[in-house]
Amino acid sequence: MPSTSIHELAIQQVERLSRRGFQRLSLPGPLENAFEQSTLARRSERLWLEGLVAIGLFNIYVLVDHLLQGSGSWLPVQLRLCIVTPLALLINLSMRWSPNKIYRETSIAAVSCLIGVMHLYIESNKNATSSAYAQVGLIVAVIFVNVVMRLQFFYALSASAIMLASDLVFIQHDHFLNSSEKLLGITLAVCAISMTVIANYSTGREERLGFLMRLRSEIQSKELSFLNVELQRISSIDSLTGLANRHAYELQFAKLWSESVDSGSCLSAIVIDIDHFKLTNDTRGHLYGDRVLVRVASLLLQGLRCKDDFAARFGGEEFVVLLPGTTQEGAMIVAERIRKLVEVAGSPALPEPGSHPRLSTVSCGGASCYPSDITCKEDLLEAADKALYRAKASGRNRVCWGELSIRQYQSYSSSRRHRILVKSDSLPLTSVD
Ligand code: GH3
Ligand code: MG
Ligand code: MG
Repeated sequence: MPSTSIHELAIQQVERLSRRGFQRLSLPGPLENAFEQSTLARRSERLWLEGLVAIGLFNIYVLVDHLLQGSGSWLPVQLRLCIVTPLALLINLSMRWSPNKIYRETSIAAVSCLIGVMHLYIESNKNATSSAYAQVGLIVAVIFVNVVMRLQFFYALSASAIMLASDLVFIQHDHFLNSSEKLLGITLAVCAISMTVIANYSTGREERLGFLMRLRSEIQSKELSFLNVELQRISSIDSLTGLANRHAYELQFAKLWSESVDSGSCLSAIVIDIDHFKLTNDTRGHLYGDRVLVRVASLLLQGLRCKDDFAARFGGEEFVVLLPGTTQEGAMIVAERIRKLVEVAGSPALPEPGSHPRLSTVSCGGASCYPSDITCKEDLLEAADKALYRAKASGRNRVCWGELSIRQYQSYSSSRRHRILVKSDSLPLTSVD
């Protein structure tokens, strides 16, 4: 089930369980399973620890009872120490393995009922004091099940009903209590059972409400962080072309620059501008102009081959490409590839049959440098921009390469720098300062 429907279900259940009056505690399937899973380990651990303490106290009580009553009969001690204690210890030990709900709750309910009924069997019908004492013991057993162990409501209610029924049977056949004493005993047992069952119900309800609230806030914070990521993604993307926008470019440029400073590698930038785009808009309309922008953006991405290469829409009909770890020679090849791709495929077809679109071309200005702590990253873009201006001035549809200010070269790249004037077949229409 997707998290939103779990979320809705959790909200519904919080509302339902928060209503006044008796509400069914069990949750719908997936939520009940999630509740069980999230509480299983802690619950088993608690039952084990509290059970151990209870078994210890029970055994102390058995011995004290035997010593103080001095009846001389070993049967109660044998029944309790040889049957109840080993069984209780075994069940208690099994809690270490976090058993499933049915086994866990049923076994504890069963052993508690056994203790209660055995107590009634041992103490009832011996003498008046003992018969009254049987009632007290039963109430302790009920408190143990409903409040100390806090069995889940259904199991607590069932165990309580079994103990009350047993009490009714034993008290009915007790010859040492008169009718009003019997009525008093039953009334006390009913009061104790009612109060502890109500306490058990309230605890169960709070526990489930707490779980649902936690689940709800977990889902909400997950959804919130997903929305944050989505918002960040949307705010960094140009809606028309799908490329990174100016804001994302600024961040990426700063990141690549500092990575290049650390690695000592060359960083290249290419500024790409569509030629005579105003004319395209004026002659073919803005919608066609938009299609050209989308086409150029996609060709631009096709022109990039390395996973760290980055392209963004700089604004209007201008784009920028950042090529980390790429020297001037490599970057000039990329720029030329982009120029050529646009020249060949940058003009989307027109809807009217037979009409020919204006040929879209781009001019590219590039620059490369070895960034360092004392170089200025704006210089790289400025150099690329100047080169673009020259490409425009010298006829458009070409690649020009710029130089950074002289201080950069003096400090860093004099040994690495190549001054190339490209007029070869591989790099046509490309010039360098
Ligand atoms: P040059 O070759 O010198 O670059 O000339 P140009 O016409 O391309 O440059 P100019 O700066 O004169 O015009 C740019 C045009 O780009 C003007 C503007 O209407 C258009 N433009 C900018 N953004 C968009 C856009 O999102 N969609 C469309 N259709 N046109 C745009
Ligand atoms: Mg232009
Ligand atoms: Mg422009």
